[in-house]
Amino acid sequence: MNAGRPSEKILHLLSGLAPRFGLRPPRFLAGDFGVVMMSALPYGGGGEDAPDPDNPVGVLAPFARKNFYREMTLRLRALAASAGEGPGETPGEARRRARVEALPAHRIFCNSPLPEKELAVASGLGRAGKNSLVYLPGEGSLFVLGGIFFPSPERSLSPGTGPPFRPVPLPEPGEICGACDACIRACPTGAIRGPGLVLRERCIQGLAADPVRVPEDIRETWGPTLYGCQICQEVCPLNRHPPMAADTGLGVLGAGVPLAAVLEAPEGRLKKTLFRGTVLDRSWISEAALRRNALFAAAHRGSRALLPLVSLYAQGSDPMLREAARWAAARIMAWTITGTGS
Ligand code: SF4
Ligand code: SF4
Repeated sequence: MNAGRPSEKILHLLSGLAPRFGLRPPRFLAGDFGVVMMSALPYGGGGEDAPDPDNPVGVLAPFARKNFYREMTLRLRALAASAGEGPGETPGEARRRARVEALPAHRIFCNSPLPEKELAVASGLGRAGKNSLVYLPGEGSLFVLGGIFFPSPERSLSPGTGPPFRPVPLPEPGEICGACDACIRACPTGAIRGPGLVLRERCIQGLAADPVRVPEDIRETWGPTLYGCQICQEVCPLNRHPPMAADTGLGVLGAGVPLAAVLEAPEGRLKKTLFRGTVLDRSWISEAALRRNALFAAAHRGSRALLPLVSLYAQGSDPMLREAARWAAARIMAWTITGTGS
């Protein structure tokens, strides 16, 4: 595989072919690290299913309802292969040739450890709102981001090699927002402390993946969420007309997952049984965190049907889950006494 920058022709091809794969027209960022191409795929908005009192569900944010990250990765891969096609070549021949000749060494990334939001802003693909999320001009923020990284010859594809990334000056977050502060006011936990300043330790989206004790005031606002929060995007006027979600059949979970199924899954097997191939199967999403989220969601559903399962966790060996379950059980009992639970 040849190293080095992609030619202008290749960049032009990538740019022109991207819409054919349902990807937003890419933008490029070049530096001593190499060249990064950034693009986006829409996941759309989405309403919440009506709760079923006999089988209460934990709600998934729209981005987690299907595996849009995997879909984006596959589309980027197909784009890279087709950008290497020559006249009369079959896609298979082109793919083989692209690997050895037309495309320099590259890595496709999506939902990766790379600073994807910053790269999207630095490349000009979008601008950051006060909620720190990337907004595409005229289209809003309901997109997954991803791209292709062509490292410079001195930088191999292995992490930690080659020249360091130099910070690129970015426009101030929130410049696109004007006087609006709807996301700051709507965030239920007060996590957005200023333009672009979101405290991960108070953000439900961030906490949902981490196996940590969630402070009482945050769990009170948790709602029936199993994974994801995008209230700060739902209230945003720039998302008033969301683009249609990309078509994909990958990792389909729907708007909600039965909480009983999450709480009943055998220890250590939740992600590999219920969530295999879905967004929730990512390595950094803790299984214990998903079970804790399910306990919070059960509490907010006020679900008496789930009380026996919740009580089992209240006697369990994991201190974080035990404490969450005791809180949830007390909350469900309170709902029961006031007669407002399901
Ligand atoms: S994702 Fe939710 S908790 Fe996090 S900043 Fe947005 S509204 Fe607040
Ligand atoms: S809700 Fe308002 S302040 Fe927040 S990102 Fe959208 S436009 Fe900006």
